[in-house]
Amino acid sequence: MSLEKYRWDLVNCERCSMCKWVHPWSVKSHDRARICPSMQEYLYDAYSAQGRFDVARALLEGEIELTDKVLEVIYACTLCGGCDVTCKFTRDMEPLEVLHELRKYAVEQGKGPLPGHMPAVDSIRKNGNPWLQPKTRRAHWARNLKVKDLNKEKAEVLYFAGCTYSYNANLQNVARATLRILQSAGIDVGILGNNDACCASPVLKVGMDEMFFEHARSNVKLFNSLGVKKVITSCAGCYGIFQGHYPGVETMNYEVVHSVNLLDQLIREGKLKFKNKVPMKVTWHDPCHLGRGGEKEDLWEGERLKWGLSDPPRQRNFGSNGVFDAPRNILQAIPGIEFTEMERIREFSWCCGAGGGVKSAFPEFALHSAQERIAEATDTGAEAVVTSCPWCELNLADGAAASDSALKIVSLVELIEKAL
Ligand code: SF4
Ligand code: SF4
Repeated sequence: MSLEKYRWDLVNCERCSMCKWVHPWSVKSHDRARICPSMQEYLYDAYSAQGRFDVARALLEGEIELTDKVLEVIYACTLCGGCDVTCKFTRDMEPLEVLHELRKYAVEQGKGPLPGHMPAVDSIRKNGNPWLQPKTRRAHWARNLKVKDLNKEKAEVLYFAGCTYSYNANLQNVARATLRILQSAGIDVGILGNNDACCASPVLKVGMDEMFFEHARSNVKLFNSLGVKKVITSCAGCYGIFQGHYPGVETMNYEVVHSVNLLDQLIREGKLKFKNKVPMKVTWHDPCHLGRGGEKEDLWEGERLKWGLSDPPRQRNFGSNGVFDAPRNILQAIPGIEFTEMERIREFSWCCGAGGGVKSAFPEFALHSAQERIAEATDTGAEAVVTSCPWCELNLADGAAASDSALKIVSLVELIEKAL
């Protein structure tokens, strides 16, 4: 795949601007009609998917060069996929793939990624995590737990906490709570300890595909060698990558499940029973990589013929089959919880602002997007935003602090543990 592969899209994009807005059927108010964080931040067409199509076409035609400004346009985007689902409702383009190809192009030309991305990239190369932490501390989160070590023994399920839940002291309890709950439900689960390695999402997102493939291949081979039936992760980013991108890298002999889906199933089967009330009014934030980005992708290779026609036929991803119901089922099942929705939800959710390398390269932009979400959550009257993605949890917490908001940011699994 390359930018050239998307020439049809670049030329035939109708410049209709649908990719900047929540689909009209789902707009609830004028103030919350936007879906594109970068368009909201920069208020200039080049910072939308539509504008980036023009930039990509102009690069292909040699009309412009990769200046610092063009690189900013390419990278000041959270790759949240809001444009992708809204475009597909009325058109048949592939905005998200074009946005990724632009980054690959920048890397191929020796101009990408940006300096702000490099500490995380170098740390993944050196330490197997983007947090500049030694490999030897990866399993510290589990040091007081009794759990199978899959390096030495077999289990049906691998629990993969992900880098951020493993290393961030404020979030490690998410991994611990998930493991405790899985064990209490009788799941035969183990961990890889210090041998877990980054899913490599951060390098894929900045366009470093070669490095991504190397890491992804090594992870799939390792998971296959364990003989596990399932890999369960709590991280929305790892989940999106494991189920959306790894199948195109190597054959996987296991199923990938986000912990929220499994926990919902265990509650519905009666294997987890709530005993305690958690009196709290909450709203749910759909992480992009769990929601619209959590939909199974069609790994299509073929040719675009004309509007709506591809050879061989290609599935259009509308984002509506992501993980949306499971967290809502859980919140509605916890005694004492009063659940309320924000205006932009499910496939039209507003991004937390941290993704696509934005948090490290454009921290102000990341913060403004989080503040927008905090304001939207505040309007519901909720006292907490519940979610299930470490990046969303960290960035929304930053947004709440910057907005002097009393809203709490809570991980779903911690609410579940309180109620059990
Ligand atoms: S990318 Fe899609 S939604 Fe955006 S302007 Fe082009 S055709 Fe319209
Ligand atoms: S991926 Fe998100 S931030 Fe980037 S252009 Fe699309 S809607 Fe805007």
